[in-house]
Amino acid sequence: MRWRKGHRSANVEDRRFESGGRRMRLPIPRTRRGGAQMGCGGILLLLVLSMVFKQDFFSLLDAGGGGGGISTPAPREQTAPAPGGVDPEADHVSFVGDVLDRNQDLWHQLLAGKYRDTKLVLFRDAYPSACGMGQAASGPFYCPADEKVYLDLSFYDELSRRFGAPGDFAQAYVLAHEVGHHVQTVLGISRQVRQAQAQNPRQKNQLSVAMELQADCLAGVWARTADEMQLLEPGDVEEGLRAAASVGDDRIQQMSGRGYVNPESFTHGSAQQRAEWFKQGYTTGDPDACDTFG
Ligand SMILES: [Zn+2]
Repeated sequence: MRWRKGHRSANVEDRRFESGGRRMRLPIPRTRRGGAQMGCGGILLLLVLSMVFKQDFFSLLDAGGGGGGISTPAPREQTAPAPGGVDPEADHVSFVGDVLDRNQDLWHQLLAGKYRDTKLVLFRDAYPSACGMGQAASGPFYCPADEKVYLDLSFYDELSRRFGAPGDFAQAYVLAHEVGHHVQTVLGISRQVRQAQAQNPRQKNQLSVAMELQADCLAGVWARTADEMQLLEPGDVEEGLRAAASVGDDRIQQMSGRGYVNPESFTHGSAQQRAEWFKQGYTTGDPDACDTFG
């Protein structure tokens, strides 16, 4: 992916060096297999990376028990660089800010007069959001209550440290998916879905799946624009389509070692559904084509 090195986004809130809870050692909710409870962004990212790099990134979740997996990031003393000093993550901050701004430029165009910016909060280890404590281990997530996307760069640091630099397109894709959740909030879709879920608990899961698939489709709409702006490099789109195909609850269940696939418990959609909806967004470039609720 091509991006503007040195770009600074006005919508990035850099909280990496604040004490707002980052050294608090809070209990991290565990899944049955002992990994951290991940948000949709975290699962998405691990699956995309597993597919792109042909390695099981989910093994990181199992590295617990003091092994220093992603679920148990080592405490670190990180202080802000001295004035004039070098921020070792400067490029990374610049990259995510650039992807964020490119996404929001698009949504301002497509939803003229309606769209309002989301903020991207960068934190380290743990940070309080209106949706609860953000955890490095949960990966990126969107909080509808404060309309912000939360991202801990140490999540990526850990992946880079163990596996070399993770794919930039995979990161952009996950960020675009989280911005897609913000678009759903702006359009009132999230609110309608929450109401429908409250009225009809039996459809709760099905509606959650539709929300996730729509965010994939909206990420596809952005990928189309990025392609038209020649920001993508050869292979990125194919990588995105393959990635979407590999990111489904059926795969998640298989990879998480349960050994069986139970569609009733899907909250993200199957791999095939995800690929189809990403492709739908990418080929049409039209958010109106992203009606996953129909
Ligand atoms: Zn999601």
